[in-house]
Amino acid sequence: MRPIPILMYHNIAAAPRGVKLRGLYVSPGRFARQMQLLRRLGYQGLSMGAALPWLRGEREGKVAVVTFDDGYVDNLEHALPVLRGLGFSATCFVVSGAVGSYNRWDAEQLGVRKPLMDATGLRAWQAAGMEIGAHTRTHPHLPQLAATDLEGEIRGSRQDLEELLGLPVTQFCYPYGEAGEREMTAAQAAGYAAAVTVRRGRARPGESLWSLPRVSVGGHHAPHVFPLQILTRHEDRH
Ligand SMILES: [Zn+2]
Repeated sequence: MRPIPILMYHNIAAAPRGVKLRGLYVSPGRFARQMQLLRRLGYQGLSMGAALPWLRGEREGKVAVVTFDDGYVDNLEHALPVLRGLGFSATCFVVSGAVGSYNRWDAEQLGVRKPLMDATGLRAWQAAGMEIGAHTRTHPHLPQLAATDLEGEIRGSRQDLEELLGLPVTQFCYPYGEAGEREMTAAQAAGYAAAVTVRRGRARPGESLWSLPRVSVGGHHAPHVFPLQILTRHEDRH
């Protein structure tokens, strides 16, 4: 069966001067060209929830999953209009304890405070047909947590977001992609349907839904890398 690229984005914006990890930024123009290319190649861009039948191997076809980590305001401003224009859906993984705040977990390290969507923004994202997934409460290193804290971060973030937004939250994203057996078991027990990591590769239909690999799309890549990531074994061989 055809492998499924689960695309991972962070910021859709021009990288500010002097910011570290410029790879976290994809410019709005480049993002639009990438989504248009998917369409031209015959791919449907889907949220994690919508893509589950393909990920489970129940349906076959050209599907790419579009995900955004952390819940930045620029996703709403720059990615949403492109996705809507193409009839695509996407999942944004939100840190429930940082709604309307900024990236407290890495602002110092990156040298930039990036605004996160507030509740109004998250509702606008959902109202446009997009999905909200959970990305813990505080973006911790999960393997370092005691069991009760782990439960609060994984199950608690789902409860927080469901309460805030009034819709089921079925998708989870491990901060820093850190997912050992304990974290995977906790995500499953918390009632999610699937969980994504930062392990590099395209997803194979029917593989475990608790440590799904992703394709990291970075602004530091040359433009020709994106089609290689989607269409070839560029990501899979690592
Ligand atoms: Zn994150």
